[in-house]
Amino acid sequence: MTQKALPVHTPETRSIDPSSTDWREQARHAIRDLAGLERAIRLTDEERRGVERALSGGFPLSITPYYLSLIDPDDPSCPIRRQVVPTAHEGVEVPGDLVDPLGEVEHEVAPELIRRYPDRVLLLATDRCAVYCRFCTRSRMVGDGGGARSLDVLEPAFRYIEENTDLHEVIVSGGDPMVMSTSRLVAIFERLAQIPHIGNVRLATRAPVTIPQRVTDELCEALERAHPSIWVMTHFNHPKEITEASREACARLVDHGFPVMNQTVLLRGVNDDPAVLEQLFRGLVRMRVRPYYLLQADPVRGTGHLRTPLQRGMEILARLQGRLSGIALPKLVVDTPGGRGKVVVGPDVIVDKSGGRTTLRTFRGELVDYLDPPEGR
Ligand code: SF4
Repeated sequence: MTQKALPVHTPETRSIDPSSTDWREQARHAIRDLAGLERAIRLTDEERRGVERALSGGFPLSITPYYLSLIDPDDPSCPIRRQVVPTAHEGVEVPGDLVDPLGEVEHEVAPELIRRYPDRVLLLATDRCAVYCRFCTRSRMVGDGGGARSLDVLEPAFRYIEENTDLHEVIVSGGDPMVMSTSRLVAIFERLAQIPHIGNVRLATRAPVTIPQRVTDELCEALERAHPSIWVMTHFNHPKEITEASREACARLVDHGFPVMNQTVLLRGVNDDPAVLEQLFRGLVRMRVRPYYLLQADPVRGTGHLRTPLQRGMEILARLQGRLSGIALPKLVVDTPGGRGKVVVGPDVIVDKSGGRTTLRTFRGELVDYLDPPEGR
């Protein structure tokens, strides 16, 4: 699975070693312009127009040398390439497309704080990421130039969390919080640790996938000290993303005591294939990362070319059911447009239900009745 790293050429330096273990160097030398990308991979006309569109006010471009090294430079259908190289299709809107598919603006309860559920809130700590994924749900604000939010900016959000004692969990997201400085990130978790009714926090990050060098022992130790219960939610989409470096990053997190879960977004031409997802989920479990969600891609404006029909996800999950153990099988979820919350869908296993008798379809396709116990006992 691990690929041999090739030198990456950027405008800033002629030759960056993509396996550089210095995360700041990875971030500093991320490809952000057309010339840099053209030096690294052979772009199609459609991709070139997509990059030009992204650079002239569209959703920005950023690819770390490490993540770039996973791309096949000669294959436009490469599943890593499809995730991060813009194409002209981003300019095409299809029915159902939304700028803010999860209604986050509508559900903002304090600056940078979204509340869509009774027991948890989402804190947007930064708009920056190491890599900008073309399917990003928050493309409306990610990469908009604001950078990491200061503690002063976030203070009204912290106060809201303090005052609302029915909250139990805070999801720290962005952008990618892990591309913030360690001191800034730690300060956020320390502040949340002072709020007694917040039992746990979730750190949503793609860093183990896109800039695994960021997951240092120093960072893990600092986070461990900052908060007693941090759960990490990462985001692997394809088995090619499981490399020696990403394995080490996840091992470091787990060894420091952070439960690590993964959400995979179902993407056309990237992972909409049961064999690909089986390989991915087995690989994740092997490195002690729990496949948690398989997400139907959100209807973000300009991502129609990357999305699949809902039925496809249900078919894939039906194929994987029974083939994969429970710990390797994520829930297939639709985050309902408008921010009305996640709904678990499929596979569709209830064939009939009446009078205390439910007919279920097993993973082998057999129909089996389950009888409820008699009432009143
Ligand atoms: S890392 Fe996450 S927030 Fe950043 S662009 Fe990718 S999906 Fe969006």
